[in-house]
Amino acid sequence: MKSLLKVYALVSLSVMCVACCNQPAPQSQIEEPDIQHVVMIGMDGLAGHLVEAADMPTMKQMMAQGAWTLRSRSALPSVSAVNWASAYMGVSTDMHGYLQWGSRVPDFEPAEVGENGITPTIFTALRRYDATKRTSAFFEWDVHACLIDSVAVSAFYHIPMRDGHSEDLTAAFIEEITQQKPLFTMAIYDSPDVEGHEFGWGSPEYMARLTVLDSHIAEIVEATKSAGIYDKTLFILVADHGGIDKGHGRTTPEEMNAPLVFFGPGVKQGYEIESAVMRYDLAPTIAHILGAEAPEVWRGKALTQIFE
Ligand SMILES: [Zn+2]
Repeated sequence: MKSLLKVYALVSLSVMCVACCNQPAPQSQIEEPDIQHVVMIGMDGLAGHLVEAADMPTMKQMMAQGAWTLRSRSALPSVSAVNWASAYMGVSTDMHGYLQWGSRVPDFEPAEVGENGITPTIFTALRRYDATKRTSAFFEWDVHACLIDSVAVSAFYHIPMRDGHSEDLTAAFIEEITQQKPLFTMAIYDSPDVEGHEFGWGSPEYMARLTVLDSHIAEIVEATKSAGIYDKTLFILVADHGGIDKGHGRTTPEEMNAPLVFFGPGVKQGYEIESAVMRYDLAPTIAHILGAEAPEVWRGKALTQIFE
């Protein structure tokens, strides 16, 4: 009788175990999206208000299947070096000190510098996070080399436009993605700022350039597929400032508002970010996506709302 009870107890215990193993996982155990690469594409002078009219099928598909805003706001003044610095450094002009369109060094003393002598950049944060992982930067305008932490980036390449075209930068960037499969890499195009200054923001030449840039974005997305990393890659499309007539630098919405698009694993689909998005939110958001810690000095906010 005693042993029969024991058997009964064992059987009921195993039934209980099967039952509990079949329970769905509680909400808190939902897995984080598996993102191992961030590929960022920057377009100098891409104005938020001109995107709707643009023939940019790849970018618009990323918006339809990702999270986006056309009103991410410039630091002041709304010029290039100031805003690329803000994007990379997670702080505004008053802290990083780059004040002119083409500043190569801070125009006044930065509020705080890191171990490499400049305000910590996204590359500083990623180097601190995992020094073994590759990061890289590709750009057509040489000033970018002065705005990133060249000691913390694995490799950077200044590849200027040739005869008004960007095929060289695109080809080098594609080779990097295919060969190196970097943790974080970025390609920053000089256009459509070039066409904006020469022909005007929204001119036929400016709009035609947007379509060419879109074809480069499509080639880059294809490259991640060939490299076998597409499913684990988050794409970011970003600009520094917009423009109006043949210039920018002031405080109109046309000059200050630029697009910011996120597309990849775990990102909400067709989600327009309604809350305020500042240029200096970019670095903290990239750090958050890759699990790196934001340097103490950063003032931007990670846009965590882009994820499901
Ligand atoms: Zn410009």
